[in-house]
Amino acid sequence: MTPAAGTDPVTAPPTHGAGRFAPSPTSSLHLGNLRTALLAWLWARSEERNFLLRIEDLDQQRVAAAPQVAREQLDDLARIGIDHDGPVLRQSERLEIYREYAELLETYECFCTRREIAEASQAPNGGPGAASWRPYPGTCAQLSSAERAELRLTRAPAIRVRSGVDAFTVDDAHAGRHTGPVDDFVLFRADGTPAYNLAVVVDDGLQGITQVTRGDDLLDSAPRQAWLAQQLGLPVPHYVHVSLALNADGQRLAKRDGAVCLSDLQAQGIGPTEVVRRLCRSAGLPEADDAPGVLAALEPGQLDNPLVWQPWVVD
Ligand code: GLU
Repeated sequence: MTPAAGTDPVTAPPTHGAGRFAPSPTSSLHLGNLRTALLAWLWARSEERNFLLRIEDLDQQRVAAAPQVAREQLDDLARIGIDHDGPVLRQSERLEIYREYAELLETYECFCTRREIAEASQAPNGGPGAASWRPYPGTCAQLSSAERAELRLTRAPAIRVRSGVDAFTVDDAHAGRHTGPVDDFVLFRADGTPAYNLAVVVDDGLQGITQVTRGDDLLDSAPRQAWLAQQLGLPVPHYVHVSLALNADGQRLAKRDGAVCLSDLQAQGIGPTEVVRRLCRSAGLPEADDAPGVLAALEPGQLDNPLVWQPWVVD
């Protein structure tokens, strides 16, 4: 049921499986991103997995506004000693692959605006992503072809998967068996751009990713992604959702929170070596000058310590 082998140059899964880091190149990596990248690299390397990098650059408008960011992100990872196997994948070069995989799914056109969805659905239920997330109420699920034809005259449709389930369960290193909602989520936006959930699942599957380490803001997206992987005949990875970095007000750390990126810190005389040491302290790991140094000093089980799962307040 998968598209013909050979359509994708990175299909062959690595022998021990692989971990990955997949930044969106919309702004420089800050301390929180670097911490997640370091933890992902350590989780993968300490278990003899490959480590792959992927640039999630599907939002072409935001990427075009800062075209140098992807290069800077890769340079910053290298500066703290995070290496990787194989070529860096760019999602913007893989649009045809996402389309091929989406053809394996039962889908329908959705003409709803965000506002219509909000009005038609119940109160927020704490599902994937933002606190305001609501399951799609299925407004467009049963439109007749005549109704669709009429709506197409005035609106471009998004494409949703017809999921037919309410929930799915994943395995997470900290959360354990985690069950979360699966609705008829978007696969392609109205402008034709593949949605994050589709691209991430196809890429993780085709890159042979067996371990997804990332911020715990994405824990509630994992059930939808794992469910989708299963539908597409792709292996479901094991998840490691680590805590996020917060600013002094308890909000998720952002670039505007002062000197939180390598270049700003460097300008204050704080080089990559001190940054790695700071990341190590934040996560209860042995201190070293770079990622390979931390790996060499790591004791078994040390990656599963309470500080990895508690929010890190950067002040
Ligand atoms: N590109 C996403 C981000 O930068 C990460 C997605 C993922 O790790 O699954 O937030």
